[in-house]
Amino acid sequence: MNPDAQERHAVKVARIVAQLRAHTNGKPLSLRKKAVSHQVPKPGDLRHRDDKIDISDLTEILEIDPVRRVCVAESGVTFVDLVAATLAHGLVPIVVPELKTITIGGAVAGCSIESMSFVRGGFHDTCRAYEVITAKGDVLHCTPENEHALVFQMVHGAFGTLGILSKLTFELVPAKKYVHLRYERYTTLADYQAAIADHAERRDVDFMDGIIHSPQLYVLAAGRFVDRAPYTNRYDWVKVYYTSTARRFEDYLETPHYFFRYDRGVTNVRPKSFVGRLLFGKLLASSEWLRIAEKVHFLLPREKPTVTLDVFVPFSKVPEFLAWYERELDFYPLWCVPYRRVHDYEWLTDGYWKALGDEMFLDLAIYGMKQRGPRNAHRMMEEKLRELGGIKTLISHNYYPEEEFWQIFNKPNYDAVKQLVDPDNAFRDLYTKTCKAAMGKV
Ligand SMILES: Cc1cc2nc3c(=O)[nH]c(=O)nc-3n(C[C@H](O)[C@H](O)[C@H](O)COP(=O)(O)OP(=O)(O)OC[C@H]3O[C@@H](n4cnc5c(N)ncnc54)[C@H](O)[C@@H]3O)c2cc1C
Repeated sequence: MNPDAQERHAVKVARIVAQLRAHTNGKPLSLRKKAVSHQVPKPGDLRHRDDKIDISDLTEILEIDPVRRVCVAESGVTFVDLVAATLAHGLVPIVVPELKTITIGGAVAGCSIESMSFVRGGFHDTCRAYEVITAKGDVLHCTPENEHALVFQMVHGAFGTLGILSKLTFELVPAKKYVHLRYERYTTLADYQAAIADHAERRDVDFMDGIIHSPQLYVLAAGRFVDRAPYTNRYDWVKVYYTSTARRFEDYLETPHYFFRYDRGVTNVRPKSFVGRLLFGKLLASSEWLRIAEKVHFLLPREKPTVTLDVFVPFSKVPEFLAWYERELDFYPLWCVPYRRVHDYEWLTDGYWKALGDEMFLDLAIYGMKQRGPRNAHRMMEEKLRELGGIKTLISHNYYPEEEFWQIFNKPNYDAVKQLVDPDNAFRDLYTKTCKAAMGKV
């Protein structure tokens, strides 16, 4: 790595360490990043009142090695900047979440999936090393092989409760200038799942995700990198990507426009009207909406909040899950991303993995469902997933009782790492942060 970049990074780390060591008042800590947070905004989220550790200058790409196809970058680098920089070398990150300003640190500490997940899992599954700053200001170098292997595995999905990610090393893959998409339409779930399984086995496409427009229309977007395109489309102003998948049979996008095709909202594109998008669509991307929601979070409804969440359903259980979903909730479209089980994550219990027979999940995402029934849809979802061996990501509203939560998430592994990186609980524990503080409960 360039010594100047290394030096600049060391100065930033020293500043973060000094902030951590100066924090002695016992108040919970959370992070101030430069980019907006992509957590589903919740009313009264206590993180707004926390003391902050400022990591907003961790935004530099420290090294791109085109020969080893590896990148080293600070945790606040956004995927839009990363894709631009790596494409200059003909490379891209292996898993690129769809929203431009998701950061690489946030993608590891929270969650990250994309249309390459059917081969490689999440962005974290493409990472080789993390630099983690503990609550006491120690700096750990963590890899899957060294003495901090468990820290390496557990920071994924720990939502910043197991220290601060300051630097990440991750793999890149060769890219081409364009992505050619074919939209395969299916009228039954069985045919849809068979097509997904077939592409996943044959590996005949580079990208795969889809939109379930209704229980009668399932679209699979199968993409490949190509060098030439007869035309290109982009979906960052008036055109809406997800609706185009029901009308078109194929499409060509420049590679960055492909990665960020959902940046105006996945299926909850705003402004909703054509005229609204014509006037304001260029100015209002996902980051702007999230910033507005953060500012007025206290105005959001506390009871039965609108549902924006994603769930991982074992592939064999998808028919049962979607039959239940249609009966109970019946809200479409759904975004779906096939996700390979590339590693039995240490943050889930051993019992969870033993009971799971599937090698693939289907991640299903709901954006902006208003709750209508007598029961809270978030909680209904938690219960159904429990029954089917699915997992709900913790970015949204969470209603798990604590005992149930720790039957899913691996408490012995979590506690072992917590003891090392944050023994005084400065960052809260995972349950308290995601199921209580985020929900406005002390
Ligand atoms: C509307 C919406 C749409 C989304 N769409 C997609 C999508 O298309 N694809 C996808 O993969 N994901 C999507 N997500 C999920 C998103 O990728 C995750 O929420 C991700 O964790 C957000 O990263 P961020 O950089 O915004 O981090 P933040 O939201 O700021 O942080 C996420 C968590 O990680 C912690 N954290 C952040 N940075 C660090 C760090 N450096 N060290 C330690 N902890 C840290 C924070 O404290 C927080 O608890 C979406 C989320 C929302 C709300």
